[in-house]
Formats: sequence, structure tokens, C-alpha cells
Amino acid sequence: MPKVLIATEKPFAAGAVTKIKAELEQAKYDYAFLESYTDPADLHAAVKDADALIIRSDIVDEAVFNAAPNLKIVVRAGAGYDNIDLKTATAKNVVAMNTPGQNSNAVAELAIGMMIYMARGKFNGKSGTELAGKKLSLYGYGYVPRFLAKMAKGIGMDVYAYDPYLKDEQFAQDGVTRLQSVEDVFKTGDYISLHIPATADTKKSINDQLFALMKDNVIMINTARKEVIDEEALVRALEQKAKFRYASDVAPDNTALLEEKFGERVYWTPKKMGAQTAEANDNAGVASVRQIVGYLENGDKTFQVNK
Ligand code: NAD
Repeated sequence: MPKVLIATEKPFAAGAVTKIKAELEQAKYDYAFLESYTDPADLHAAVKDADALIIRSDIVDEAVFNAAPNLKIVVRAGAGYDNIDLKTATAKNVVAMNTPGQNSNAVAELAIGMMIYMARGKFNGKSGTELAGKKLSLYGYGYVPRFLAKMAKGIGMDVYAYDPYLKDEQFAQDGVTRLQSVEDVFKTGDYISLHIPATADTKKSINDQLFALMKDNVIMINTARKEVIDEEALVRALEQKAKFRYASDVAPDNTALLEEKFGERVYWTPKKMGAQTAEANDNAGVASVRQIVGYLENGDKTFQVNK
């Protein structure tokens, strides 16, 4: 009977835990939960007899793989998987997966909330602006921005997107105007929403050159990863464009400086909130179990990310 470890520094919501357990019991799998741990040693100890591992933002590095001789599959219940050492996973013959799309609606709703919050001066009682009639540039056009595009169009925004890896039809079918370059993303939007993954190519890629192209009163929303921003360049952009506002779902590194210099014009969630809904927890948790069962029983590698 395969054993699944669910290791969550930031636990799943209680409802999701119940659903995950029910799925595992239906599959007749053994399981254990390691919740709210703070010491990686606890994870190393817990994973030693696991065949499968479900994680959220937990770090799965070489030490975790070394501590898990039976591990065959690790599933990140969520979209971004930059917390898994994919090279070591491949070297150890462990399949790594994410659960794409399962939390996208939650993240898109948060992005809309942040857009409104910033457009209304963080609800400071003064006159703000509206989203309707404005241009929204989406940088990356994966699952999250597709949900966001639909919502933004409902509000009456004109939606543009850049993603060089997709076919024209993907944009056309959603009524989204395809942009041809990264530069166009930054030139076009009254609102710019970031949805690129954090990779060696994208880390710190949002730099002085791109910030310089933006409109003066742009609102940028980052529900992707803080690492894609060159934070020193962000500070310079906020200095140079007096109406530029920036909101992010996860605190930047230089919060004290940003808060002190630009308080009204910057915002970040206290903890990553994008996928923090009961629905997203349920969806991603249950999908993780199903993907593990699909792989262990039938070799289904549909959502493998270490190919
Ligand atoms: P996804 O994997 O569905 O899509 C990523 C898209 O980015 C793909 O279509 C890919 O072609 C495109 N892309 C990759 N590199 C690019 C580049 N250099 N330029 C333009 N496009 C590029 O991801 P998603 O579900 O839409 O999520 C987007 C990002 O948001 C994730 O990578 C993740 O880091 C982050 N995320 C955050 C939260 C949160 O809680 N805040 C939750 C989910 C996802």
C-alpha cells in the first residue's frame, strides 16, 4: 500500500484536509500529515518512508530527496513549482507535478481585488479611478490570466496579453488582443498584471528598461513571484513616476524602504494569499491525490513538470 506524505508548512484549510483524506482512503493508500512544521529536519524525518509527497510552498531540495529513498512522485498543490529542485527530482527518478488551473480562479479574483484597491487609493476616502474602459496588459497568458481576462472584460476593460509560447487562437477565442513583445506589455497597459513563472530567464527581468516604458499612472499587480522584479529598479520607477502604484501577493524583500518612501502607492499581502480560498484548497488538494493515484496505478504523467 503506497504511503503519501502531505507536508504543509502552511496547512490546507480544514475542509480540504477532509477531502484529501477521503480521496486517499478511497484509493486505500496510507497517509500522514506534517503540518505547520518550521524545521526542515521534521520534513526529512517524515518523508523517509513516503512513496508520494504532496506539498504547497514547501521547499523540496536535494536534502529532502536524499531523505526519501522510496519517493516516486512529488506534487505541488498549486501552479508555481520553483520550490522543487527539478534537477535532483529527475536524477532520482522522481516525477514532479503541479496542479495547473486548480487555484487560478482564486488568484485572478485576488488580482481584481488588488486592482480596485489600488485604483481607489487603498480605500483612503479620497476620489479614485475606475477599471472600466482601461487597458489591462497581461504578462504571461497561462491559467490565471485567462480567468482574469474574463473577469476584466466583464468589468469593461480592454485586455491585452503577451505569451510567446501560445497559438494565436488562444488569444482570439478569449477576445484578448495578442501583444508581440514584452515591451508592448509595459507600453500598453493602464494596468499591468504579471503572470510569468520565476525561471532563470525571468528572475529580475522586470528592470529599468521595462519600467521606463510604462505609462506614468500605471497600476502594476504582481500575483506571480517577487523574484521576477528587479526591486532596486522598482524603487527607481516609483521615484520617477509619481503616480505609479505597485501591489503584490507576497512581500518584496525591501518592504521597509518601499513602505517608508511610497506608503500610499505600494501594497503587499501579509502572506501569500492568491490561492488561499476554501475552493482553491479543495481543488488543488484533491487534484494532487488523483494525480498521484493516476501515476502510481496507471503511469499517467500528464502534469509532469520535470520532463
Ligand atoms: P501557467 O503555468 O498556467 O502559465 C504560465 C504561462 O507563462 C505559460 O503560458 C507560459 O507560456 C508563459 N510564459 C513563460 N515564460 C514566459 C515569458 N518569458 N514571457 C511570457 N510568457 C511566459 O501559470 P499560471 O497558473 O497562470 O500562474 C502564473 C504564475 O503565477 C505561476 O508561475 C506562479 O508563479 C504564480 N502563481 C501565484 C499564485 C499565488 O498564490 N499568488 C498562485 C498560482 C500561481
